[in-house]
Amino acid sequence: MMSDAADRLSEVQAKIADSATRAQRRADDICLIAVSKTHDAVAIRPLIAAGQRHFGENRVQEAAAKWPELRGEAPNVTLHLIGRLQSNKADEAVALFDAIHSVDRSSLVQALAKASEKAGRQPQLFVQVNIGDEEQKGGCKVADLPALLAEAKDAGLIISGLMAIPPADIEPAPFFALLDELAERNGLAGRSIGMSGDYETAVMLGATHVRVGTALFGVRDVANG
Ligand SMILES: *Cc1c(COP(=O)(O)O)cnc(C)c1O
Repeated sequence: MMSDAADRLSEVQAKIADSATRAQRRADDICLIAVSKTHDAVAIRPLIAAGQRHFGENRVQEAAAKWPELRGEAPNVTLHLIGRLQSNKADEAVALFDAIHSVDRSSLVQALAKASEKAGRQPQLFVQVNIGDEEQKGGCKVADLPALLAEAKDAGLIISGLMAIPPADIEPAPFFALLDELAERNGLAGRSIGMSGDYETAVMLGATHVRVGTALFGVRDVANG
């Protein structure tokens, strides 16, 4: 008998495959990131056992507490940082994560360039765009994107793509389409878009990475973030 987690994983994978087919894309070109923030090792292990290998966390401290042990059990896990990163945690983030989706400002570009040089490795990097121009959200302004990408390049960083979180409670498709357009215009292949409520739409609109938490793990305890 399959565990609940394995059932949910199969369901999400099937929906990604269906959306990819409808959009005449290959399902293999879409990376499913299981967002495990707030969930402990006991909740994460069944997904690893079911074959899931990409996981996302939004806090460096939380990931540092959970993942070294889990990685000992599953060395081929790929860990993605999807939350805001303070520049003074760049060294720790570069050591811990294989990908960082939240590069959004000059000071962080400089800190990541320094940390990557020191470490002799650079995680895969995405620039987060504040696609709905929302005051409270992270991400660089759409208008500032070309300058930030140029700065990253000058600093020796390779940027793989763009990430965005569209405004809540309104139709996300136009924002996904805008992110796709911005990525295209800047010659970037990666599009990190789509969460539990809208990953099928995101796949239809070019997502290369979808970040899915609730649909895989169930509802998070809000007290823990
Ligand atoms: C929590 C989080 C997700 C996952 O959200 P769900 O709605 O639970 O799928 C995706 N992206 C980011 C940046 C997040 O912080």
